[in-house]
Amino acid sequence: MRNESLASRDGSSPAALLIDVRDLSKIYGDGSTEVQALRGVSLSIRNGEFVAIMGPSGSGKSTFMHLLGCLDRPTSGSYRLGGVEVSRLSRDQLAAIRNARIGFVFQSFNLLPRTTALENVELPLLYAGAGRDERIKRSRALLDQIGLRDRVDHRPSELSGGQQQRVAIARALANGAPLILADEPTGNLDSRSSAEIMRLFRQLNRDQGITVVVVTHDPGIAAWCRRVVTFRDGLIIDDRPVADVIPDAARIVAAGESAVQGVRA
Ligand code: ADP
Ligand code: MG
Repeated sequence: MRNESLASRDGSSPAALLIDVRDLSKIYGDGSTEVQALRGVSLSIRNGEFVAIMGPSGSGKSTFMHLLGCLDRPTSGSYRLGGVEVSRLSRDQLAAIRNARIGFVFQSFNLLPRTTALENVELPLLYAGAGRDERIKRSRALLDQIGLRDRVDHRPSELSGGQQQRVAIARALANGAPLILADEPTGNLDSRSSAEIMRLFRQLNRDQGITVVVVTHDPGIAAWCRRVVTFRDGLIIDDRPVADVIPDAARIVAAGESAVQGVRA
């Protein structure tokens, strides 16, 4: 205990790691149906990083995100989240950690259809036991922050894909989670909406220090991040700064910026 509290004041110490995964494996099914989705993955992510996870379909990206997000438990290996070993916790304990510390953003938005933008953002606050006034105040502030002030009473079907994903991001932020995990968040969006979403992630990362991990197969999306981790066949085969992997990353981001500015102007 004492070591951890001392270590947390030292930026280079293990406690500064938000995510510390060692030799993680995940096997689905058994016998003839067995699939080894992860085969010994080790990765550390510090607080405040902005990471892209790339790799071909079936390489284990979503499985890895589910484990990082405490939605599932590994078959073996260690996962320390904020210095706490979570790989062996019960489902209820995982749910509590998830609600307090992790915001999810999915390709398909996963908003409740017959519910307004405001109510969708309120949901995690409702689960966390916040009172009605606090829920509404905080949800309005978040929708305001992401540029949807005039859409609070719209249902998902009355919003564009990019707007729906922004509502999902506001929902992910509702409980003040320090970590956002996004699995192909731009997979259903056109290039301009995609740039808008990545710009929002970058802003949350830079201005609020939120750690963001984004799965994508699109180099134009990964370009917005600062570090690119590549999976193949259930293993990490590459882990480098973005400019090493995507040489024209800065140009891609600048083009995305001006496309977004064009809409706003
Ligand atoms: P990716 O997100 O990189 O496309 P996944 O993590 O979804 O990869 O899948 C990795 C491997 O695990 C694939 O072979 C996939 O078919 C398998 N898989 C994923 N989820 C399950 C599951 N719930 N049950 C059985 N096999 C699964
Ligand atoms: Mg996937």
